[in-house]
Amino acid sequence: MTFFRLNISMLMCFLILSACLEADLQRLMEGNQRFVQEKLKHPGRTPETRKATTSGQEPFAIIMGCSDSRVPPEVIFDQGIGDLFVVRVAGNVIGPLELDSINYSALHLGSSVIVVLGHQGCGAVNAVVEGESQDIKAVAALIEPAVKEARKGQPPNLLETAIKDNAIRMKDYLLKTPEIRKLVDAGKIEVYAGYYKSKTGAVEILK
Ligand SMILES: [Zn+2]
Repeated sequence: MTFFRLNISMLMCFLILSACLEADLQRLMEGNQRFVQEKLKHPGRTPETRKATTSGQEPFAIIMGCSDSRVPPEVIFDQGIGDLFVVRVAGNVIGPLELDSINYSALHLGSSVIVVLGHQGCGAVNAVVEGESQDIKAVAALIEPAVKEARKGQPPNLLETAIKDNAIRMKDYLLKTPEIRKLVDAGKIEVYAGYYKSKTGAVEILK
């Protein structure tokens, strides 16, 4: 039955590509809703899934997240083995190594959604805001433009604004890279920025 349903949905995806992309974002956000509502399904964490994915992987989403121990993508999106291609680095910034990793999954593994995920109370962004980033120079250099931009608007919550601006800037950067641009233009992938609130567990998709 599951196999049958899978084939029907794959056929629908083939027929309506954009609907398929939306369905994949929805799959991610439904997992986050289960996490928020404490209705976890823990999909794909069985020995069967492990064995079935030994010969290959088709992660439907790429998460470009922060290394922060409190933001594990498979947990907060309630996904399993083989579902997410995860790149994590302090401040969820994208340099050459991160871009190569993202491109690998986007170009070769068929992922159709990318989420650059900032999070509440990000220590890396906070270090830049507070001017105490001497120990994370390479990361800070990539975060600084977002903090500068956020400061200009004099927002009531500078840290939260800078974290969101940083995720949006990284999303915009991805959209300008030739590989991702080509996939977006072909309707094969969509790129989003998100913000995870540890207080509620909810992920908000940013504009
Ligand atoms: Zn962080």
